[in-house]
Amino acid sequence: MIINGSTKIIGIIGDPIEHSKSPILHNYISDSKNINAVYVPFRVSPDSLQDAIRGLRGLNVVGFNVTVPHKNKVIEYLDGVSEEARLIGAVNTVKNVGGKLWGYNTDGDGFLMSFKEETGHSFSGKNVAIIGAGGAARAIAVKAALEGADKMVILNRTIDKAKELSDYINDNISDCSSFAGIEHNDAKNAIMDCQIIINTTSVGMYPSTDKCPIEANSILNDRHIVYDIIYNPVKTELLKVAEKKGSIAVNGLGMLFYQGINAYEKWMDIEFSENEIEQFYTMFKKAVLEI
Ligand code: NAP
Repeated sequence: MIINGSTKIIGIIGDPIEHSKSPILHNYISDSKNINAVYVPFRVSPDSLQDAIRGLRGLNVVGFNVTVPHKNKVIEYLDGVSEEARLIGAVNTVKNVGGKLWGYNTDGDGFLMSFKEETGHSFSGKNVAIIGAGGAARAIAVKAALEGADKMVILNRTIDKAKELSDYINDNISDCSSFAGIEHNDAKNAIMDCQIIINTTSVGMYPSTDKCPIEANSILNDRHIVYDIIYNPVKTELLKVAEKKGSIAVNGLGMLFYQGINAYEKWMDIEFSENEIEQFYTMFKKAVLEI
């Protein structure tokens, strides 16, 4: 691709940022669709966040992604946020609209698109267990509640955080949530009548690939749908056990992919066809697996 005077700049701010897979996806899309844009990673320390946002605004970039640790703090430097980003309290995508910076959260949509596509199920009327109560858990819990989950239970190591997220869902979206710890019996009792189990913790992520957030062997069965938002490794210990027990088992690569597609479509005001999305996903999976 030739960079010239009309090249649009998009990118991602975070700290660290070297591990990000987003440049692979966005630059591939621009190349394959002949869109004159380049996606650049920017390592921005917490102390430099305000300066970075001023700079991006001043340089009139088309938009950018925001990742850890800036997803919450960035909101105060933007001109406004979408209703979903407000509910989640975090922004992962910013779009420049005539010099105004608008924040969105595409994590929930990315998760939902991947979940529906890869499991063939929806949340409506289902009982859902969410393991973890951090940033990703909040985006997913908000989405699952908005999508009509019947009951939700938040399981977390730090129980106060599980309670806080559960109360937040009940007070702001729908009165469907409860909470518990992740110790074996608490988790087992809470998960007993759930059809959908989502791991949003980092337990099992590379390099601690032998770890599992719950005692899956004695909890899972062939009626469960298990979604682990981790994608490195592609098959976590939780997903290995889920498969062995006959559950539907899906990893987090699709969530990462679809949140990116969603952001790109927003920045460029375009909508990709199903065929294009399939082509991008095939490339993305291959590229990520080769790294
Ligand atoms: P976060 O806000 O820091 O939350 C981390 C969560 O993991 C908390 O609930 C924390 O529990 C729990 N946790 C961490 N270490 C634990 C341990 N040893 N035992 C039990 N629980 C533990 O992080 P996040 O942004 O939500 O991200 C969480 C994971 O999701 C990461 O692996 C990240 O890479 C992945 N992720 C994937 C996607 C995707 O697109 N697929 C998107 C976002 C995030 P406490 O509250 O007790 O500390």
